[in-house]
Amino acid sequence: MADATETAPLLTPTADDDGAPFWAYAARGELRIQTCANPACAELRFPPRPCCPHCHSFDSAWRRMSGRGRIWSYVVPHPPLLPAYAAQAPYNAIVVELAEAPRIRLVGNLVAAADARLDSVDPARIRIGARVQAVFARVGDVTLPRWVLERP
Ligand code: ZN
Repeated sequence: MADATETAPLLTPTADDDGAPFWAYAARGELRIQTCANPACAELRFPPRPCCPHCHSFDSAWRRMSGRGRIWSYVVPHPPLLPAYAAQAPYNAIVVELAEAPRIRLVGNLVAAADARLDSVDPARIRIGARVQAVFARVGDVTLPRWVLERP
């Protein structure tokens, strides 16, 4: 009998109450970041949470981002990998700092196009500081932000 980890599909995020708007906007092709709705503060925050860490306000809104950013860091996972991931290796996981808010960093995958496979970018082409743009791909029942190079 196969171990459950051998047959498990690739996992997609599960939205909680605080993060649900992020995923709802992503499904519309919009990258939005939670922001404090206190006009005297207006700080962006990520991951989403109920209270502003700067002014402690519980009022929030969602600000649309350009989707532009730069690769702040990345990894290329090596075996042993779970079978569902091994089938897509060599893939990458990148950390992107947003152009409008370099303190805000999102983890995702660098791909050749929104619907491209996770191994669609040669890891040797990935550079810290490279400019990227968010794209959106439907994966299972969720729409994931992914990243493409501005100059492929
Ligand atoms: Zn605030």
